[in-house]
Amino acid sequence: MRVLVVEDEPHIAAAVERGLRAEGFAVDIAHDGERGLFLARYGDYAAIILDLMLPGRNGYDVCRTLRTEDVTTPVLILTAKDGEYDEADALDLGADDYLTKPFTFVVLLARVRALLRRTAPQRPAVLRAGDLWLDPGAHRCGRGDATLDLTPREFGLLEYLLGHPDTVVSKAELLHHVWDAGFEGDPNIVEVYVGYLRRKIDTPYDRNAIETVRGVGYRLDGRGG
Ligand code: CA
Repeated sequence: MRVLVVEDEPHIAAAVERGLRAEGFAVDIAHDGERGLFLARYGDYAAIILDLMLPGRNGYDVCRTLRTEDVTTPVLILTAKDGEYDEADALDLGADDYLTKPFTFVVLLARVRALLRRTAPQRPAVLRAGDLWLDPGAHRCGRGDATLDLTPREFGLLEYLLGHPDTVVSKAELLHHVWDAGFEGDPNIVEVYVGYLRRKIDTPYDRNAIETVRGVGYRLDGRGG
């Protein structure tokens, strides 16, 4: 899942980015409102974390503009106690929740997860393919009764594949959704991570859940391989 963070204070943006990535989210950062609005319009985000006091276009304006344009991505507003706007304003302008600075990352993460649960009721609580399962809310996955220990990136990769069973997913699509928009490394990184994932979800169980579709991408067997 991708999250957009619009925050002009570099240390806050960096801390939030680091924390979300460690939890398996792909993260894009915008340091001003104009860039934030651009990304929010065209990016495919599960949620937007939006600071109110931003250079150029402020968060108030970004949120209102998105709602006017029928962009319904859930928005968590960050407000400062002594800011120009307060919590009531944040909700009035179409945000889904707000958090007052300073905040701890634990609280931010809990709010983001609650927001995702609340605003995406169509998302199945647990993704399944045969005996392979992944619970995004609890951040756990496994095969049958066995729990799998995946790194955040492996988890994100499996989550995306389980969300698109029996469908060929290209490397570019995986890079876009599981890595970050600004990723400029070797696209073969996807191959490397699919390899890691297979070693954890397939090899020990003598299964083959992730099929390579040569020259195109990967397909997750809806029966779990
Ligand atoms: Ca700010």
